[in-house]
Amino acid sequence: MPNESTRRAPAARPGLSADEFRRHAHAFVDWMADYYARVEDYPVRAQVQPGEIAAQLPAAAPEASEPIEAIFKDFEDVILPGMTHWQHPAFFAYFPANGSPPSLLAEMLTASLGAQCMSWQTSPAATELEDRMMEWLRDLLGLPDEFTGCIQDTASTGILAAIVTAREWASDFAVNRKGLSGGAPMTLYCSAETHSATEKGAKIAGIGRDYVRKVPLGPERGMNPELLAQMIRADRQAGLRPFCVVATLGSTGTGAMDPLKAIGETCEAEKLWLHVDAAWAGSALILPETRAMIDGIGHVDSLVFNPHKWLFTNFDCSVFFIREPEHLIRSFEILPEFLKTREGARVNNYRDWGVPLGRRFRALKLWFVLRSYGAEGLRALIREHIALAREIAGRIEAEPDFELVTPARLALFCFRYRPDEMADGEALDTLNETLFEALNDTGRVYFTQNRVDGAYVIRWSVGQTATERRHVEDAWALVQATARSLER
Ligand code: PLP
Repeated sequence: MPNESTRRAPAARPGLSADEFRRHAHAFVDWMADYYARVEDYPVRAQVQPGEIAAQLPAAAPEASEPIEAIFKDFEDVILPGMTHWQHPAFFAYFPANGSPPSLLAEMLTASLGAQCMSWQTSPAATELEDRMMEWLRDLLGLPDEFTGCIQDTASTGILAAIVTAREWASDFAVNRKGLSGGAPMTLYCSAETHSATEKGAKIAGIGRDYVRKVPLGPERGMNPELLAQMIRADRQAGLRPFCVVATLGSTGTGAMDPLKAIGETCEAEKLWLHVDAAWAGSALILPETRAMIDGIGHVDSLVFNPHKWLFTNFDCSVFFIREPEHLIRSFEILPEFLKTREGARVNNYRDWGVPLGRRFRALKLWFVLRSYGAEGLRALIREHIALAREIAGRIEAEPDFELVTPARLALFCFRYRPDEMADGEALDTLNETLFEALNDTGRVYFTQNRVDGAYVIRWSVGQTATERRHVEDAWALVQATARSLER
């Protein structure tokens, strides 16, 4: 006779059953499709105050299981109002993080597989698809055949990897062995417009902020190459060790392009590593008509760009190209017994190509995006963004009470409201700051601010997947109406 305890049904294992998972997953997919259909109805920038969301969250994790329905309800009621909607077509802030349906579908598969793709053996297909995606992208962007590379999480990580590799290459890999102590300080050069990620990378790599040289701007806000050469020479004469230049294609503030050819010639002559930060503008290289920006690519040692910004690939996905990967691998490789695999050097083990050991399967979404849109589709969308930005910039220029402060470079420009030819200065800056906050408070658009030569400006970046003509036209109408209704 079975006793009482053996007759009782076994306690259900914690977690969802397969049937429950299927039911919720179907409902979630419906929600996702509806979200995209109505994303325009949400305020672009979250309209909440600091602490408002946290106040609605319990102070401690639950002891008992809660149903998915209850968690999902809180997602809709508590979390969603506190989200800024990056996929909103009136998102004109920062640079876009423009996802897309094929990318999202791939992310669902990636999450389902839950693979950690640190080495070839831990997911051969992930590694080999990544190899192939790097080749596809290299060719689509018109980069040299010898470039190879891998997918990183962000451009910041790629820039750090470049700085560390440059440091090792320049020191004959001595810093890896002995640390930075002892030798003369190493100096890194970038323009005054360079994204803060370079300074951050230099801090982390032990270069020190004091040794990041901000080269003044030349015409069109690109790095002045003559001053770069002078600064390198002066540093050498002072006993320092110049080792790396980070050039930007498409600066965050104004979309400025550093003159790669002239910078590259200096790097070649002075034996400096040349890294290119094309985090945003790199996607536009898919258009043959924008390739003039990589004139001089023959001098470039490494380059980073973010498909998660402007190539319709969900965040995160940053692509890092390098001419001679052996320097990168030698800088980062570390091989304890438990990480060794029998394939050895016959395969790429991307754990040795950057900072993290563990890696997501990011190549899958690129594969879906590149195949689903085709190069033609991607080109058409990026061309449309550029054309829309140019058109709106032209209209701003034509209005006597507005000023186009920086021209449309690719799909980015800066402008300000300047009624009655107000003089530069605090009053004009304050007026524009008021306009900027008022616009974002409507929830109908989202811009970011910038300063150009000290002047407060509004920065308009076009690039959301769903952005169409009507969105930029509505936004421009809103900008004019809001500006002209401001009290002065
Ligand atoms: N470089 C440039 C030119 C950028 O515009 C940005 C971000 O907008 C970055 C680097 C940093 O990018 P990430 O967020 O991928 O680290």
